[in-house]
Amino acid sequence: MDATSPTPPPGPAPPSGRPPRSARFAEVLRLAVAEGLLGEERPLAGFLDADGIRESADALRDAFAAEPGVRVLHTFAAKAASLIPVLRLLADCGMGCEVAGPGELRLAVEAGFAPARIVLDSPAKTRDELRLALALGVAVNADSFGEIRRIEGLRSPGSASVLGLRVNPQVGGGSIGAMSTATATSKFGVALRDPGARDRVVQTFVERPWLTRLHAHVGSQGCSLDLIAAGIAETYRLAEEINGVLGTRRVTGIDIGGGLPVNFDDDETRPAFAEYVAALRSAAPGLFDGRYDLVTEFGRSLLAKNGFIGARVEYTKDAGGRRIALTHAGAQIATRTVFMPDAWPLRIGAFDGEGRPHGGPPMVQDIAGPCCFAGDVVAHARELPELREGDFVVLYDTGAYYFSTPWAYNSLPRPAVYGFAGETGSLRFAPVREAQSLDSVAAESGLRHAGALTGLHGRP
Ligand SMILES: *Cc1c(COP(=O)(O)O)cnc(C)c1O
Repeated sequence: MDATSPTPPPGPAPPSGRPPRSARFAEVLRLAVAEGLLGEERPLAGFLDADGIRESADALRDAFAAEPGVRVLHTFAAKAASLIPVLRLLADCGMGCEVAGPGELRLAVEAGFAPARIVLDSPAKTRDELRLALALGVAVNADSFGEIRRIEGLRSPGSASVLGLRVNPQVGGGSIGAMSTATATSKFGVALRDPGARDRVVQTFVERPWLTRLHAHVGSQGCSLDLIAAGIAETYRLAEEINGVLGTRRVTGIDIGGGLPVNFDDDETRPAFAEYVAALRSAAPGLFDGRYDLVTEFGRSLLAKNGFIGARVEYTKDAGGRRIALTHAGAQIATRTVFMPDAWPLRIGAFDGEGRPHGGPPMVQDIAGPCCFAGDVVAHARELPELREGDFVVLYDTGAYYFSTPWAYNSLPRPAVYGFAGETGSLRFAPVREAQSLDSVAAESGLRHAGALTGLHGRP
């Protein structure tokens, strides 16, 4: 992480010939301030690059299309940007949707994904969720033998749902424990290397002709391509083994999950989807020969670099020799960064009150948020041009899992999200999510039941 440059160094230009992302985003920020989307009354907002999202979806499709023998359904992991307009844009790009619970399933349906292009994964699906998914014809990946038994009891022979089993190839973890799903004791999937587990999986398929898919999602940020590819290769070998034992092609699909890591250090998109496809090809060449339909479930790698947060500097102060800028970007929209600053560092850009990049010599500053706990700092001891009241900061690479996944701490309202598209001179905004109103904050905090506890007496 280059902590010394006032604004991020420009990376290579995107394929469209547009300026590098941070230059484009600077233009967007200036316009957002000019149009009043950011300012004293609206001190925080998220921004998403609709053109960039389309380009990322194209890059994913092209990377797998380079392997002509295989059919692939690319789904977007809804949790990475759980906003209906984003999901609809990705549906428009030809993608499907991976969901992990009743809320995300609802969003996917509202966004317009056909049920056959939706995949339900979650380790704790209720019977009601399973019933709904089976009735809709959504694909379901069971997370455990217990869930297989439930599905067995609930499915009707005519269900259009493709049904699979998630396995944990136990190939190990990456650099962030909380993001590593293929450790020995991970809560996800059937742990393949446990004694007897592999045979039990094979037997489960032998006995259930309706099981036709294997699923593995090896990890997320912090996992290397080789680690992820090793987990997928192990899943491929299991599919071969099941089909070998059955003497027929029963496993017809492999869902390889998502998890491509994202570079948070500069503008460059790295690793590219094409590098991942190359790693998969060398770890499991048979994956691409057309015998298996593939499903992918990428989230962060499609959205992270296509979004940023803009936040106003409300005050500055000095404490113990450290300059602190008190902004509106804190744990409510950068939760992981605040709680695990070393695992999730973010590039910060400094802009003046009109949204123009700040010049001036760098000084060491903390970029703090509005939440009432001491750790609410999104960047520690960062060298940036001196920030002053009324300036703006930009938090880059926050298009996935940041403002789209707010935390309700301190009853801070969810910020507005805007999409943008176009070139310098023709940039346009569209609202993606309104800022949460204080009426909504009150309603979500039990307003309807305001007297519920004063009227409740335990003692007669
Ligand atoms: C979170 C998740 C994904 C997406 O992970 P990214 O790192 O955002 O690509 C895909 N599949 C499953 C099962 C997940 O839980």
